[in-house]
Amino acid sequence: MYRPYSTNEWKKLDKLERGEILLLIEKEKKMAEIDLEFAGLEIFELFGLKKFNCPKELFHLVNSNDLLQIDQRWQKIIENENDSEWLTFFGENYNYPKCCANRFVNTIKTMEDIIDRTINAGQTGKIFKKWQTEIVKHILDKGEHPKEFNYLPNGFVPCSLHCENAIDFLKTREALLEEFDPEAAKAFTEFNSNWFLELTTEVNESGAILLEF
Ligand SMILES: [Zn+2]
Repeated sequence: MYRPYSTNEWKKLDKLERGEILLLIEKEKKMAEIDLEFAGLEIFELFGLKKFNCPKELFHLVNSNDLLQIDQRWQKIIENENDSEWLTFFGENYNYPKCCANRFVNTIKTMEDIIDRTINAGQTGKIFKKWQTEIVKHILDKGEHPKEFNYLPNGFVPCSLHCENAIDFLKTREALLEEFDPEAAKAFTEFNSNWFLELTTEVNESGAILLEF
């Protein structure tokens, strides 16, 4: 397996994106969402990766060998016009635990529900809020955030703070990041620590009760 982690091209990438691409190269998952602002496609082709054309403004990389299979499955989903199926597709390719991913799949029935997440904090918004509430309650109670969540990928919402599948998923990420790119690993730890801190400060300052469950 070609590991580009000590090359200059690699070092130029954003550290959080680098982490996600590393996990793709190491086959921990099948797809990594990235922002092309940081580098041209040529660099990723050097790493044995290809662009996968999927909808909206999303941009994904996949391992060259997987491209055909992923693309065929995607074409079927488009033909069926099944919105919740495409969420399953992303959850599986990001390697999210089924119990965590299924909450979204079961909640989101149409494309409008997905939009609703950001605009009206509908059903999906509640899932995000519930997770944030759990985290803040833990921090206020214990005085620190749960360290298992240091390597949380952006956009992943565990089904609970105690979900063993989510914790295993995060441990695998930690092991690979620490082994192959400790700088990227550190970037995740910093990013998530800051985010947890911001979330807690926000709640403390506003005196808000996030949600009662
Ligand atoms: Zn779960």
